[in-house]
Amino acid sequence: MNHYSNSQISAYFKCPRRYKLQYIDKVPVPKLAKGVEALMGSSIHLALQELYKQAKFGNILSFEQVSQIYLADFDKSISDELIIPRPGLTPEHYRNNGLQMISKFYEANYPFQQSQTVELEYRIRFMVGPYPFVGIIDRLSLDQQGVFEIHDYKTSLNLPTIETIEDDTQLALYLIGIKQNYDPKTEAKLYWHFLYFQHTYQLTKTEEELKQLEETMVQKIRMIERDPYYLPNESALCDWCSYTDFCPVKTPALQPPETPDEVLEAVDEYVEQWRALQALKQQAKKIETFLSEAEKLIIEYAKQHELTQLAGSKATLPISESWQYQFPLSTDKGRKEFEIWLKEQNLWDDVSSLNTPRLNKLLKDGRFEPETYEALMAFSQMLHKLEIKKVIFSEKQEEESD
Ligand code: SF4
Repeated sequence: MNHYSNSQISAYFKCPRRYKLQYIDKVPVPKLAKGVEALMGSSIHLALQELYKQAKFGNILSFEQVSQIYLADFDKSISDELIIPRPGLTPEHYRNNGLQMISKFYEANYPFQQSQTVELEYRIRFMVGPYPFVGIIDRLSLDQQGVFEIHDYKTSLNLPTIETIEDDTQLALYLIGIKQNYDPKTEAKLYWHFLYFQHTYQLTKTEEELKQLEETMVQKIRMIERDPYYLPNESALCDWCSYTDFCPVKTPALQPPETPDEVLEAVDEYVEQWRALQALKQQAKKIETFLSEAEKLIIEYAKQHELTQLAGSKATLPISESWQYQFPLSTDKGRKEFEIWLKEQNLWDDVSSLNTPRLNKLLKDGRFEPETYEALMAFSQMLHKLEIKKVIFSEKQEEESD
């Protein structure tokens, strides 16, 4: 693995098996025919790249010149193999859509001097924690105040909500790269240009948000690298997958043989016993509630009459007394001061113990420096398990076990 990218990490969360075939096994697949939407997108990117390349040197291309670049690139790739995903549409529809996007963008941004272009289709390399990353910035520029602008052109026919854009990791990762490559203290504005809608989202990111993103990415990569199964995730995306020949979901020869009777019986018996267990758990909850209420009543009565036991018609209930010291709990006020005092008195080692769930969480959150992480790994053993977490009944009702 030479480097990671934002799209590579997203690929894992769409289908771990496809991720493995593509990025780990690097299974060669025949070059697939291009989809018309991807063709339109790449031709628009090419035209806008040339437009800003020339504008950087003061040569403003006319709209006709920009559209010629777009049309020439689009037309040279039209073939019978071109995939048209939406029934009833032709390459001509997409060709015109793309032209309209360029036309509106040209009109809105002429004469393209709002900011000073620094790089175009910039292949940026940077580190996220200990992991090398790479990305491509459509246009990097500086505004009049010297603030970096990271521009990304989107040719999708869907306009995402602002919440989706806020959660987008792509441009925020590029910002981490800009800080590393130019200036750690630099500010930057992030622009998502949705060309079809002539709508631009613009956001900035705080240091805290970038730090959080870095931690999340490190955590995701560790999860990816330690996945022992890379299970296939069957979805609508399988229709567009280039690796179907290597995936058991789509290739019968790779599928396991018919399930033996004893396993099928085990599945049915599991479901039956699982239902019985759920019923017992509910029953147990009711009994616990009753016992707790009854205990309160009995103890109150015993206290009033100074009794140490109470006899019923079938048995006697002794009332036992115990006591213990109460110290501030982890959420209580005064806990921190209490812990500091224990440490000052050299009592901490005698009363504290290792909190392994907390250590696990810190590791998963990527909170340790690489050296500390590696040293901790020398003490740890990674336990992976496959388990049944829910039962899906044929009537599509899902029930989860706790
Ligand atoms: S066919 Fe579907 S399940 Fe199989 S690798 Fe491709 S996307 Fe994943």
